[in-house]
Amino acid sequence: MKLAVIGTGYVGLVSGVCFSELGNDVICVDHLKEKVALLNKGEVPIYEPGLKELIASNKSEGRLQFTTDLPEAVRQSDIIIIAVGTPSLPSGKANLSYIEQAAREIGLAMNGFKIIATKSTVPVGTNEHIQTIIASQTAFPFEVASVPEFLREGTAVQDTLHPDRIVIGTSGETARKYLTELHRPLTEHIMSTDIRSAEMIKYASNAFLAAKISFINEIANICEKVGADVTEVAEGMGYDHRIGSSFLKAGIGYGGSCFPKDTQALIQIAGQMDYDFKLLKSVVDVNRDQRFNVIRKLEASLGDLAGRTVAIWGLAFKPETDDVRDAPAFEIIDALVKRGANVKAYDPIATANFRQQFGESGVVYCADAEEAAIQADALCILTEWKEFRDIKPLSIQSWLRTPNLIDGRNIYSEHELANTQLIYYSVGRPNMN
Ligand code: NAD
Repeated sequence: MKLAVIGTGYVGLVSGVCFSELGNDVICVDHLKEKVALLNKGEVPIYEPGLKELIASNKSEGRLQFTTDLPEAVRQSDIIIIAVGTPSLPSGKANLSYIEQAAREIGLAMNGFKIIATKSTVPVGTNEHIQTIIASQTAFPFEVASVPEFLREGTAVQDTLHPDRIVIGTSGETARKYLTELHRPLTEHIMSTDIRSAEMIKYASNAFLAAKISFINEIANICEKVGADVTEVAEGMGYDHRIGSSFLKAGIGYGGSCFPKDTQALIQIAGQMDYDFKLLKSVVDVNRDQRFNVIRKLEASLGDLAGRTVAIWGLAFKPETDDVRDAPAFEIIDALVKRGANVKAYDPIATANFRQQFGESGVVYCADAEEAAIQADALCILTEWKEFRDIKPLSIQSWLRTPNLIDGRNIYSEHELANTQLIYYSVGRPNMN
């Protein structure tokens, strides 16, 4: 099939590349000239394992192109996938301006029947809005569909090639037929539904996963008070197949480009219909507070943080990504700087992105984990990169000026710490604190 994918971010680029890997002709479009120039040089503007190799092979097979020319890409394609960003507005609502712009440009460029499928996460009713915008620009026939994306950054290529399910929400029979055919090689779990339900499935899924994280974090906080170990509790819960073991890792809360904005957007969607989504509001509140446990534990350990040197390992919101959008590191480092601490920060991949957004004030960015930890009064682990897991606690002890370790991701086990003098705080494991 001939596809155009609008937006070459984590979703658009990975989806486009994977569709070309399946043998389709794909034109990836972005309005950022620098991004497209990089991609045309064979470089990848985001860090995502396996992506670079797939881009190279599919480009050389002639199935994958990158362009800024949206009208030409639309004209040459039968299916147009919208994968532009839908960031939060200050109110928490989804910003639909990129979607609306893309829809207008698609409508203007139409030269025959097209299927327009939205992979961006959009509030219920948005695909109908897209339909209205396109119809206002063209007399050519078209059908729209909501095909929400569930990939996770860090494993985006694997998730796209082996999804748990594909949801196709449309009222158009041609769109349903072709989109089913397009996704068939990926999974047998293709669910066909109406547009509004498809849009809601995405928000409901992310809200539920966020709720699982906040739930286990609250259990962890209680474990600290009652003397139970949250990792044991989560394991015991997870064996129950009604509960499942995933998303039950206690830590410093969720971040990233999806859960924070999608939970806020769903609260807004409900609110616009006069529904007070109390449960989800609590999920968000718990998550916001959870990251400050790092500060509380640091203060319990060091007292006043003014003039103290605090090392931070991990700036990305999770391992295997360079994405720092809504990463807990922002608020934690900001709180440290406001308390007068000197911060030394290191991340294996995400430092440049973090630095660009946070700036230099109060933070020294380090070239490796050791450089950050050397002569610090405490070390805080905010992202569970494998590189950190591989570092022996005894090395950390030898690098620090005073041996305070705040492990926000529970990466070390009791026996690994047994022969150290580290003053160790983790999450929900009181016997180890
Ligand atoms: P992103 O910000 O990384 O990428 C969006 C891209 O779209 C940018 O490169 C931008 O320049 C481009 N763009 C915007 N308007 C354009 C236009 N009119 N024409 C051409 N290009 C345009 O975003 P992302 O993380 O890939 O997310 C995209 C959507 O997918 C969002 O709605 C997000 O919620 C959803 N989603 C994201 C993930 C994820 O893990 N990142 C997972 C599932 C769903």
